[in-house]
Amino acid sequence: MPGPREDCLFCKLVREAEAVRRADGFVAIADINPQAPVHLLVLPERHVDTFRDVAEFPPDEAQRMLAFVAETAAESGLTDYRVIVNVGPGGGQTVFHLHWHILGGRPMGETL
Ligand code: AMP
Ligand code: ZN
Repeated sequence: MPGPREDCLFCKLVREAEAVRRADGFVAIADINPQAPVHLLVLPERHVDTFRDVAEFPPDEAQRMLAFVAETAAESGLTDYRVIVNVGPGGGQTVFHLHWHILGGRPMGETL
């Protein structure tokens, strides 16, 4: 398993940020520029470049990551929310360490 990337902002945050939740190899942090009343990021503690790499995950890790996203939303008091992963620069990804956005706390239906 690759170690942290010294040039990766999120590898640094995994080590240093105050996590909202941390378990099972995953961490949830508050987004620094929230787009909704609740805006969390879920990331694997190990460095993974993009969602494309999920194709290579062991099935149990992919399942645990999804469960962590759902549990984080529930523990944040959300029942209705949006989960987004931006994939590659053309998909809006700006930080190249896999992360899931959890957005909620306002009606999310009006914009994609
Ligand atoms: P993306 O565009 O999908 O790669 O999302 C990157 C997200 O990381 C954006 O929503 C940023 O606001 C967020 N972000 C950037 N720097 C930090 C930071 N230091 N702490 C928390 N979130 C950050
Ligand atoms: Zn990283």
